[in-house]
Amino acid sequence: MSETIGLHPSIDHGVKPAAANFAGGTLVCKCTQAPVKVAIKGQVAYDHACGCTKCWKPAGAIMSVVAVAPRDNLAVVENGDKLAIVDPAAAIQRYACKSCGVHMYGRIENTKHPFYGFDFIHPELFQESGWAPPEFAAFVSSVIESGVSPDRMAGIRARLSGLGLAPYDCLSPPLMDAIATHIAKASGALPS
Ligand SMILES: [Zn+2]
Ligand SMILES: [Zn+2]
Repeated sequence: MSETIGLHPSIDHGVKPAAANFAGGTLVCKCTQAPVKVAIKGQVAYDHACGCTKCWKPAGAIMSVVAVAPRDNLAVVENGDKLAIVDPAAAIQRYACKSCGVHMYGRIENTKHPFYGFDFIHPELFQESGWAPPEFAAFVSSVIESGVSPDRMAGIRARLSGLGLAPYDCLSPPLMDAIATHIAKASGALPS
């Protein structure tokens, strides 16, 4: 009998499929009073489980679940005065609720960054269901940096694979290729 591994509450009981008609919704922080609300237009993209130490994770979760939405499709609609940037020096400026600590969105202001134009969000904060589910797992080895024992990694990778989330220790090959292409076009190694 293998160890039951809890990775993240939104995937521990199986990855739920997207709803074909999902048109967006509202992300809500964990405050019981005056929660921050962020409206997202349309479906999210590149949803994935992430093991890095920067993404926000619910209590007890080993991994985060994070996706992107075009920045023009995101609007803070309620209690935005509770938001503050976690680390203004980071490439991704993560806006967190000062009361409950939940990260509501992460934004890139460097126009030369490969992912400029996309905001990073945690789709389990949607009050609606039907958002596109995670497709892979990124930065899996980094969970060790959060205190996960290295001897658990084989079990964690097997659990991710069993959920259909291929485990990578960086981003997925298509996203790594997109970053390298962006850098090659910027340097002139590839025509832009
Ligand atoms: Zn809050
Ligand atoms: Zn991350």
